[in-house]
Amino acid sequence: MTGITSITRRPSYSAMNIPRSSCIRCGVCCKKGGPTIHTEDKKLIEKGKITVKFLFTIRKHEPAFDNIRNLIAPAKTDIVKIKGKKDSSECIFYDPSNSECRIYKNRPVECRELKCWDTREISLLYDKNRINRKTLLSGINDLWDLIQDHQDRCSYKKIAELSDKVKCDNIGRKDALEKLNEMLRYDYSIRHLIVEKDKKASEMLDFLFGRPLTATLKMFGLKTKEDAYERGCINDA
Ligand code: SF4
Repeated sequence: MTGITSITRRPSYSAMNIPRSSCIRCGVCCKKGGPTIHTEDKKLIEKGKITVKFLFTIRKHEPAFDNIRNLIAPAKTDIVKIKGKKDSSECIFYDPSNSECRIYKNRPVECRELKCWDTREISLLYDKNRINRKTLLSGINDLWDLIQDHQDRCSYKKIAELSDKVKCDNIGRKDALEKLNEMLRYDYSIRHLIVEKDKKASEMLDFLFGRPLTATLKMFGLKTKEDAYERGCINDA
């Protein structure tokens, strides 16, 4: 009789406590989230290997997880990243059924440099040469003006100050809430305006203006009502 009659399962590397020296395609890095885009990756975007609809921006001063320091801190600059899947942080290009990257040959530099068993190289690269929105949008002046206006009016630095007032300052609370609601309405209207001009642009909004404030204000202990966009309605949580 031929054929396999029994399989002896090999214990995992971690169970055996064996130091790794190569990628075993466990997918852990891809499941933790997409990589940050660096200037070395610009050509991938210019050649259409990675399109802007797969990117999103963590805006300057937005709370962001720092993988190297293992803490959440305000972003020092814009951070442009590959999106996660809906309701998960798993990189949008990760194919769990085959444990593989759908853009492997054109994966960004962070993915090429990452060796989970030796993080020295990725640590050197991590916060260097991060690409920003302006670099990717060079030549589209009107759009950049809109983005700058949004960045000024919906600055995360101001949001942090106002949310502190909402929580700690009884006298300034009403005024701070009104200012936050103004920001919320503006954030909605600018996105709406762009999509009215070009429906396909809806896929690019998280890159152009970062994630909507309705999704990010909870990081400041603020909660928005479901129809917050239309009415601009924030309550402190
Ligand atoms: S781009 Fe590819 S290698 Fe990089 S995190 Fe996404 S799935 Fe993984």
